[in-house]
Amino acid sequence: MNFNLTDVQQEFVKLAKDFGEKKLAPTITERDHQGIFDRALVDEMLSLGLAGAYFEEKYGGAECDVLSYILAVEELAKYDAGMSITLSAHVSLCINPIWQFGTEEQKEKYLPGLIEGTKLGAFGLTEPNAGTDASGQQTVATKDENGDYILNGSKVFITNAGEADVYIVFAMTDKSQGTKGISAFIIEKGWEGFTFGKKEDKLGIHTSQTMELVFQNVKVPKENLLGGEGKGFKVAMMTLDGGRIGVAAQALGIAEAALNDAVEYSKQRVQFGKPLCKFQSVSFKLADMKMKIEAARNLVYKAAFLKHEGQPFTVDAAIAKRFASDVAMEVSVEAVQIFGGYGYSEEYPVARHMRDAKITQIYEGTNEVQLMVTSGALLR
Ligand SMILES: Cc1cc2nc3c(=O)[nH]c(=O)nc-3n(C[C@H](O)[C@H](O)[C@H](O)COP(=O)(O)OP(=O)(O)OC[C@H]3O[C@@H](n4cnc5c(N)ncnc54)[C@H](O)[C@@H]3O)c2cc1C
Repeated sequence: MNFNLTDVQQEFVKLAKDFGEKKLAPTITERDHQGIFDRALVDEMLSLGLAGAYFEEKYGGAECDVLSYILAVEELAKYDAGMSITLSAHVSLCINPIWQFGTEEQKEKYLPGLIEGTKLGAFGLTEPNAGTDASGQQTVATKDENGDYILNGSKVFITNAGEADVYIVFAMTDKSQGTKGISAFIIEKGWEGFTFGKKEDKLGIHTSQTMELVFQNVKVPKENLLGGEGKGFKVAMMTLDGGRIGVAAQALGIAEAALNDAVEYSKQRVQFGKPLCKFQSVSFKLADMKMKIEAARNLVYKAAFLKHEGQPFTVDAAIAKRFASDVAMEVSVEAVQIFGGYGYSEEYPVARHMRDAKITQIYEGTNEVQLMVTSGALLR
């Protein structure tokens, strides 16, 4: 196994790092504190070509690899975790399922705009009564006399909602079939009857937008069924497998940012006549944080590698997501501890890292779900 990044992969890191340093870092505190989803900044990020890393050139992609994209998500998360999930939801949860399950007509229609970044994507699976148990979908799609679908229901907690132009939405087309009665659809913003409800007031990732989707007799052309009728649950689960690598990369970036901040602070802050880093209890804490981050990195990159190679990666993605998100939480909490009272103040970024880290243990399947996936595969 080669542990060196290729020139192309390094180029993706550089693109994201430059954007992070020049465009995200100067305004992150203000955008975080005011809860600003900055669409102009999102458009600028997408215009860098980060969304197209592993898709074919004919759709506007760069035909590189999954790891290049994952590296970009990780790098962005160091500067702005909300921005990194905006990209991850756009690529992993919207572009990827169209690319993986779409007809050629659907790919030609939707992929170029999404990959070039003139359009933003989202994914709507979660409902008020269907969270971890996504099989309990109450949104329904009934066929009309022309074979088109009429969609009714709602989705909650949807990343990029309101701003996104294209949505992958799941609904029951045949309740009697259970999960085999769930279908996936490509829905466009602006269609009659499709509106947005409550905007979430969140603990962290304030620069990412999370809203409710509401469908009232929305007519969905039959051409917008994704992956075939009754195949929606499979589309959702396979899409989330990939999404978990994006969340794991986001967690890795948050953890790295928290460690970097803690290292710098420990060199500057003087107590008892010497910098904090000269106390072994602090320097050993930093060493442990670093060790956990490096272990997480290997799991995250391996899952990205397997996805790119077309090998099974469901369990690797689940393990990487659970481990990296737990590391992000542990490391960011320790970083706050090293900052002492200043860590608890919003004047310093470690408080933000800790708030942002928490969500990585919850979305794209909670960390309990990752245990179900892993133990299920072990005990099969
Ligand atoms: C900021 C944010 C962004 C999100 N973005 C999206 C998005 O873009 N698209 C989308 O579709 N969804 C999105 N979600 C939804 C997210 O995926 C769900 O919140 C998550 O899957 C958990 O569902 P729930 O909140 O209903 O919790 P619940 O399912 O009610 O779970 C509550 C707790 O019970 C545990 N639990 C549940 N069942 C079991 C069990 N059988 N065994 C053990 N423990 C169990 C869970 O692990 C969790 O700890 C987002 C959520 C947030 C907060």
